[in-house]
Amino acid sequence: MSKYERVYNFSAGPSMLPLEVLENVQKDLLNYKGTGESVMEMSHRSAEFKAIIEDAEADLRKLMNIPDNYKVLFLQGGGTLQFSMIPINLLRNSKKADYIVTGQWAKKAYKEACKFGDIKCVASSEEDTYSYIPEVSREDFRADADYVYICYNNTIYGSKFPYIPDTGDIPLVADMSSCILSEEVDVSRFGVIWAGAQKNVAPAGVTIVIIRDDLIGFAPEDTPVYLDYKTHAEKDSMYNTPPCWSIYVAGEVFKYLLENGGVPAMHEKDVRKAEKLYAAIDASPIFRGTVREKDRSLMNVTFVTGDKDMDAEFIAMAKENGLINLKGHRTVGGLRASIYNAMPEEGVDALIALMKKFEESKK
Ligand SMILES: *Cc1c(COP(=O)(O)O)cnc(C)c1O
Repeated sequence: MSKYERVYNFSAGPSMLPLEVLENVQKDLLNYKGTGESVMEMSHRSAEFKAIIEDAEADLRKLMNIPDNYKVLFLQGGGTLQFSMIPINLLRNSKKADYIVTGQWAKKAYKEACKFGDIKCVASSEEDTYSYIPEVSREDFRADADYVYICYNNTIYGSKFPYIPDTGDIPLVADMSSCILSEEVDVSRFGVIWAGAQKNVAPAGVTIVIIRDDLIGFAPEDTPVYLDYKTHAEKDSMYNTPPCWSIYVAGEVFKYLLENGGVPAMHEKDVRKAEKLYAAIDASPIFRGTVREKDRSLMNVTFVTGDKDMDAEFIAMAKENGLINLKGHRTVGGLRASIYNAMPEEGVDALIALMKKFEESKK
């Protein structure tokens, strides 16, 4: 790391990318594999770009074991546009959908969906500052709901579903923006999985949507063309100019993951990193975790000292030591260490060592 004087960046997103990927991208920046041009300059209709997007999709399918009856789309509009596209496309029969509200992103999704149909919040942990994941079972959902919506990993609060809700035949939609590719998931248990790439995959600008094909084609007639999944599914994400650069870097990350043991290997490392950080928090006389133990996120570790000034003091000390972006989300305060796949284990070790040093200084 020191070679480039890089810091350990604990940002929730955009966030760190694997150094090896950045180096490859740098190497190919001015002349992509002998084409004489950068991917940034390349026509999205060129044979070279076609290969880039096709390989990216094929590699993601391999990494996640995506069944053939699912489409993979690379879209723009960030995670936020999916808050609208999901209800517009999926409220196809009863116009009812059931949401589990486990944090701000889920709440934003819920509020947006309310513009389009009969939306019910079936469970929420808001009353306890989203510090846990509610238990829900099949009976909690309306039998005629068009879909059930969850945010699988709550980036801001640092919680994650420890289970996949049983929704019976109702398609389950999951926002996996901050945890995609951190653990193996059985895609067939979901109707739609989607993720903004800037957390655990790539630079900002592309959103990955994995959607079962029988859920495509139900958007109302007057739906803006870009907001209809069918538009993108029929044209393999090339209806209009896709976010070429972000797709290219995502593809490079996918290759890197495949060469390094795939999702199981990432998961093993992610668990190791998270476990040692949580252990340090639990053993600390100063810091404490904010989420119920069994619902803790592997990716976003939230903790507090209970004293705003002390939080700020630690954040400043960390920054001086090359550990940046440890401040909790502006709406919740405290501390948050986002330790996505690309955060090296040494970064977590450095954070733990600094926490110990800070504790010593307070004795
Ligand atoms: C960041 C994030 C979003 C919003 O993504 P944008 O690309 O900024 O719109 C949505 N859901 C989750 C879980 C996130 O972490």
